[in-house]
Amino acid sequence: MIVKEWCMYCGECAGVCPRNLIEVREISLNFNKEECKDCRICVKACPVQALEKGDD
Ligand code: SF4
Ligand code: SF4
Repeated sequence: MIVKEWCMYCGECAGVCPRNLIEVREISLNFNKEECKDCRICVKACPVQALEKGDD
């Protein structure tokens, strides 16, 4: 997952992941990539379009 620089670390994406794979830290997001099923619910939930599917 690619996190754009305008991410405000609001935690919205972490709250909607059905597998609870996103950890919001003060200035970073941590994704459990191995467990991610690519459902993109988190991408759609972001109010500022700061998530993009990618290799990171
Ligand atoms: S919902 Fe968007 S702005 Fe909020 S923490 Fe997730 S990526 Fe960042
Ligand atoms: S794509 Fe789906 S499974 Fe992967 S982190 Fe986002 S909400 Fe969770």
